Amino acid sequence: MPELPEVEFCRRSLARWSAGRRVVDVAVLDPRSVRVNRKDRPSAGHPDGAAELAAVVTRVPPGELRRHGKRLLWRFGDGALLLHLGMTGKWSLRPNPYVKVRLDLDDGTALHFCDPRLLGGVVPTSWSTGLALLSEGLGPDAWNDPLPALRGARAVKIALMDQSLVAGLGNVQVMEALWRAHIHPSTPCDALTDADRARLPVAIREQLAATLALFDDADEIVYVEEDRSQNPFPIYRHEGQPCPVCGTPIARMVQGGRSTYWCPGCQPART
Ligand SMILES: [Zn+2]
Repeated sequence: MPELPEVEFCRRSLARWSAGRRVVDVAVLDPRSVRVNRKDRPSAGHPDGAAELAAVVTRVPPGELRRHGKRLLWRFGDGALLLHLGMTGKWSLRPNPYVKVRLDLDDGTALHFCDPRLLGGVVPTSWSTGLALLSEGLGPDAWNDPLPALRGARAVKIALMDQSLVAGLGNVQVMEALWRAHIHPSTPCDALTDADRARLPVAIREQLAATLALFDDADEIVYVEEDRSQNPFPIYRHEGQPCPVCGTPIARMVQGGRSTYWCPGCQPART
């Protein structure tokens, strides 16, 4: 599932693939992937999606790509595309059976938006509206902005996954960052020590950088849900296996309906 590093990789990929090129044509293979509004569900596909999309992307060369949390905004003059990957979306140079939208470039290559579960999408809009949509309802970006203060009784794992508090972190990045920071995932925010609060932002940055580095030579992301043999994470889905740092068997619990993996040796519960 895409989290901040995968979306950042997508941003860099689209920028690289489209540099110096123009979009000459579009194909909307599934109208449910082009939306009028950011919050529209797939059932509310854009009635005139292909025409709207073409009107934005074929008039002027592609410009800057901005990311906030897990959302991307791609500038085309005074128009823009808001892109979100949802649970399973990715942009690729290669077609696959799940291509929903295709942008044809003037060098004969094509950019394919592939999305098996249709939870991502493309929203053609204006640049000014897109700028507002990019961060609407989201907290500061987990990579570009300082980590906000964590307060209250809820567990630190749950708080860090709240996109309105801090944008871009999901289940995997949060659990791996807490392991790096030696913080038990159930620790109430108010119980974090000064040392925890100093370590946590560093651990989050290290975790995001480590995941981004995995993609350095990649031309496409393979999500860990697609191919479990490619699980590069030290503790995610390693229940019962020794912690790479201390050798304690990795434990698993459920928080907020999601699995959390953690090391009882490195991340002792607060008493
Ligand atoms: Zn450990």
